[in-house]
Amino acid sequence: MGKYDFLIVGSGLFGATFAYLAKKQGKKCLVIDKRPHLGGNVYCENIEGINVHKYGAHIFHTSNKKVWDFVNSIVEFNRYTNCPVANYKGELYNLPFNMNTFNQMWSDVHTPAEAKAKIDEQKAEAVKSLNGREPQNLEEQALTLVGKDIFNKLIKEYTEKQWGRKCTELPAFIIKRLPVRMIFDNNYFNDKYQGIPIGGYNKLIDGLLEGVECKTGVDFFNSEYKDWQKIADKLVYTGAIDEYFDYKLGKLDWRTVSFKTRIEDTPNYQGNAVVNYTSHNEPYTRVIEHKHFEMFGQEVYDCPKTVVSEEYSTEYSDGMEPYYPVNDDRNNTIAEEYRKLAEKEKNVIFGGRLGQYKYYDMAPVIEQVINVYSKL
Ligand code: FAD
Ligand code: UDP
Repeated sequence: MGKYDFLIVGSGLFGATFAYLAKKQGKKCLVIDKRPHLGGNVYCENIEGINVHKYGAHIFHTSNKKVWDFVNSIVEFNRYTNCPVANYKGELYNLPFNMNTFNQMWSDVHTPAEAKAKIDEQKAEAVKSLNGREPQNLEEQALTLVGKDIFNKLIKEYTEKQWGRKCTELPAFIIKRLPVRMIFDNNYFNDKYQGIPIGGYNKLIDGLLEGVECKTGVDFFNSEYKDWQKIADKLVYTGAIDEYFDYKLGKLDWRTVSFKTRIEDTPNYQGNAVVNYTSHNEPYTRVIEHKHFEMFGQEVYDCPKTVVSEEYSTEYSDGMEPYYPVNDDRNNTIAEEYRKLAEKEKNVIFGGRLGQYKYYDMAPVIEQVINVYSKL
């Protein structure tokens, strides 16, 4: 019998939620993380009294009441609703595409019927130019879904910046479904529940890991814990799946983003948490003003400074943060082979976005842990 029931590699939402559930059942856990802090990608750094989302803007959203009740039992969530604004060469548009956007795009459009007529007219134009064939790339697909005006001002250059390739060179499936909302509703997500933990994500992580032994700055592969069987009965591994198997089937690729963060000497820089820059005029895809995730009304002005981050889509190379799995044939095939190997590992649970090489939002990660734990 080992000293710990579980050695948990990674203190992100997967590892932290797992540790919480295990501790509740009286299990003994050790959590290690190679970063100098706990929390994985939801970790926030406090700058000028503002919680700065160090690894990218995180907005919690779910329709799963069980998950929502679970996170709210750890920390209460605020009423933040994601309503990004698009800036195209200085013109401002509400997102997602809804009646506000259509009125901003076409000043003669005021009603859903007028918006539908306008969009249908432009869609028909695009369908006609295809001469009966199916859309073969992202550009053709988007034009047949929303028409040229929305495509040119809100999709084309943003998508090219994000993917580093022309829309005519990107597969159509990326934009199979572009929601067009015929109501005045700027809420980006369709989920029932949405918000940010009051006091920030670190409160959620601290709540989950309260009373659990944790060590930061420890890389599993370069530590005494690599021979985990000596100290624990089971291993919960949330690091990269290819690294666990020493890259023996090849290295998996990732897409990454990078951030330039600065303090602005004004209480309110852009008036919104998220502004997408949808033209090539700016090299970044979006600018995040972190205080708007957690400060509302007068609170914005009670905090005299603000912190903004420009977000850049960046080609991945060794040493960078692995953010998004690359869903092409090569990577999907190798990842599947690694997952098969993982299934054969005795007493090891592979979890989370690195451990599975799958993109998961936060709520599905928590749901996954609850399911995995209940089956143990
Ligand atoms: P992580 O948070 O990445 O945690 C893994 C941990 O394992 C890390 O702390 C890492 O340091 C540690 N680790 C790895 N290898 C080792 C090792 N060898 N030794 C020790 N420790 C190791 N979700 C939403 O719901 N809403 C959003 O708005 C949203 N925005 C996002 C924006 C970006 C840019 C990204 C990339 C993701 C976003 N997500 C969002 C998804 C969210 O980040 C994930 O769902 C969540 O982080 C997954 O948690 P995890 O524990 O699987 O991984
Ligand atoms: N998109 C766009 N313009 C925008 C926002 C999004 O064209 O202002 C497209 C773009 O192709 C992007 C996709 O929608 O890749 C998904 O964007 P979203 O921001 O929802 O997802 P994320 O970047 O967080 O994966």
